[in-house]
Amino acid sequence: YLAHQDEWESNARSYPRRLPIALAEGFGSYVRDVDGNVFIDFLSGAGVLSLGHNHPEVAKAAAGRLQVLTHALDFPTPAKREFLDAQLSMLPAALRDRMKVHFCGPTGANAVDAALKLCKTATGRGGVVSFQGGFHGATHAAMAVSGLVSQKEPITDGMPGVHFFPYSYCARCPLGLKPDSCETNCVSLLERSLQDPNGGIAKPAAVVLELVQGEGGVIPARKDFVQRIRALTRTLDIPLVVDEVQTGAGRTGTWFAFEQYDIEPDVIVASKALSGIGLPVAIILYDKRLDTWSPGAHTGTFRGNQAAFAAGVETIKIFHRDNILENVQKRGIQLQTRLAALETHPWVHEIRGRGLMWGIELADPTTKSPAVTEAAAVQYHALRQGLIVELGGRDDAVVRLMPPLNVTEEVIDQAASIIIDAVTTSCP
Ligand code: PMP
Repeated sequence: YLAHQDEWESNARSYPRRLPIALAEGFGSYVRDVDGNVFIDFLSGAGVLSLGHNHPEVAKAAAGRLQVLTHALDFPTPAKREFLDAQLSMLPAALRDRMKVHFCGPTGANAVDAALKLCKTATGRGGVVSFQGGFHGATHAAMAVSGLVSQKEPITDGMPGVHFFPYSYCARCPLGLKPDSCETNCVSLLERSLQDPNGGIAKPAAVVLELVQGEGGVIPARKDFVQRIRALTRTLDIPLVVDEVQTGAGRTGTWFAFEQYDIEPDVIVASKALSGIGLPVAIILYDKRLDTWSPGAHTGTFRGNQAAFAAGVETIKIFHRDNILENVQKRGIQLQTRLAALETHPWVHEIRGRGLMWGIELADPTTKSPAVTEAAAVQYHALRQGLIVELGGRDDAVVRLMPPLNVTEEVIDQAASIIIDAVTTSCP
């Protein structure tokens, strides 16, 4: 399979290069490759499979819908209405009546693009502020507002008017400050730039923010950082777009991560895990006052995946019935507690995360430079021991752990043992 792919598939493919396996089937937190090897899957389709592979009830709901209506563009359908109502019901009460949904087609990057267009239309302004190390997708506009440089090379021109500011990456502060005395100077920098009439930047159409940078290395933003950005954008009347493509739909222990920051965003971008089992669907939820779009202003053929809608509704039912958010919190603490054994390891720079989204940043003990080779070795060692994990971060030196959200205590325990062994063996 891998040789066949080498010959016929685009060179841009990524995962199989570091994880050289061909997948045959999945079940819950496990996948089996074509040679019959079984792996614990802590990649979860890049955070998509919140209820694991082939969740039987969700798969059944999706399959049932496929026998009734497979495609309906953006016409109203019963499945779409149920999905929309279910999504709105997951918002905090204060936001529920203020928000509308736009169906974007069908990936996270498409939804980020839609959010940017919406804010530009509503404000009549150009320009976007986003953050160093952020990732928003691979379409041209989503890429242009992504600050994760490695994902943009070798595209040299971005989008005019995009300005990057430091993120609260305190383990390697971009301003060289200490977290307890920095007074979130990174936000002060943004504040000065937005307010300085001489030499500042023009008021942008939007500020786009990940609350936990996922691809950037699992970096939860500091609460004061987020709250100051929210206050600033409110004062200046700039829509705040939170990109919850990866953090949303339960990954961090609340339905959306912004709930943990006590803020109300103007636009929420959601996709990946909305259908629970990986059927494509992407939406933006946004404040009704931004809805200045004229009919047909933002279209797309695949904006009505009926099977994904049915799966999404079933997923939310299961979240309630099986207390999935509570499981995320409990299993997250379990994973964090086990990983604490690595905290004093000389190659471990920082262990961080929220809910079931964790990262172990590796660095050379002497130079503190990102331990790129060692991280790749940890990933490969884990694979050989039966655990699939992802790498991320500015230099791919962060080992990322993203189990399905209904993962059991036993599976977390087994995976934690493998990862501890992988770090210990690969970083001597
Ligand atoms: N935003 C964030 C925060 C993401 O993590 C991703 C995907 N990793 C995207 C946007 C893009 O989503 P997609 O790959 O579905 O286009």
